[in-house]
Amino acid sequence: MKKFLFFISTLFAPLCALGFNTCPKIDKIPKDLELFKADDFIVPKTAIGSAKKEIKIDAKNIAVIVEAKHKTSIFTVLSSYTGKFPYLCNDIGGLTDGQSAIFEFPYNSKPIFITLISPPGSSFNIKYFTSGKEWTPTSENIIPRLVHLPVNVMIFDEAPLAFNAIEHIQAAEKIWLSAGIKLVMNIRKFNSLETENILGKKKTIETHLGCVQRFDEPGYAQRKKLMTLKKTPETIGIFFAKNLTQSQAEKEFNQVYMSKTLGSKDIGRTLAHEIGHLLLGEGHPNGKAPARPCTIPEIIEKVSVKWTSGLMEPGDISNSTSISEDDSKIARLAARKLPGATWW
Ligand SMILES: [Zn+2]
Repeated sequence: MKKFLFFISTLFAPLCALGFNTCPKIDKIPKDLELFKADDFIVPKTAIGSAKKEIKIDAKNIAVIVEAKHKTSIFTVLSSYTGKFPYLCNDIGGLTDGQSAIFEFPYNSKPIFITLISPPGSSFNIKYFTSGKEWTPTSENIIPRLVHLPVNVMIFDEAPLAFNAIEHIQAAEKIWLSAGIKLVMNIRKFNSLETENILGKKKTIETHLGCVQRFDEPGYAQRKKLMTLKKTPETIGIFFAKNLTQSQAEKEFNQVYMSKTLGSKDIGRTLAHEIGHLLLGEGHPNGKAPARPCTIPEIIEKVSVKWTSGLMEPGDISNSTSISEDDSKIARLAARKLPGATWW
């Protein structure tokens, strides 16, 4: 079942008092939204029990701002979305007097239903927005502010990092969330027999070192077959297993092969770096990278790399996890075009 996704963020006052201060927030209404309707939701003091109001958010009604008006107002938001709010990091939100929340429709999503549940004596003002000209799902080059990106993760038997793969995954998620990309990891583990069936007796992914070697067999066929384990061939896949090189990304297959990292200090940095090679491209800041994808065995001329992020510096000279504003935008644009992505 396709998940319903949306996010909430504070507009005028932080929700620190409610304990929601750990997540990134957006502090203003996106300029390209146009107000088309506003109404009040008032629950009389004499009401027996809480009142409910359901709001539908879809491609036509792409954003709703709810402002708590009355002193004692507090509301609970529930929806059919079963995961977590990317911004509030909680399934249930609440607002007190003067606070507002914005709910926005992620493109590429089915309609979302939000239910406000309010106690007697509370009142809200609700504003509905349509999409402006710029922010349309049909435009190829709109850079989203946030992308939810499904990723397939496979953990094979005897993988050097199998014991703390989850820590690496969670740390990498955090690094990319700082750039507006929420990696939605779908994790699958393989036992000894399954691993042998997929990778062979050695339980090793035959990684390569460059374009000329990329097509060497049996490695090429083996890595190509790994694409069938993913939801779609183009979905980003992360494979924890023994391999022949260091941890490596193969952009042509949208795959990362995680073997070892640079020791205990590196939790998530190598993984986030390799994902960066898929979302941004090959090469490191101030260095050179092949001018085009590797489609036949050949030596490809190199061009200067335009990435500027500390995260994309080689692991032996840097442990930075920062992602520059420019690189974030390039990565979000690439991410929104991948299978299953929803974006705001
Ligand atoms: Zn690298």
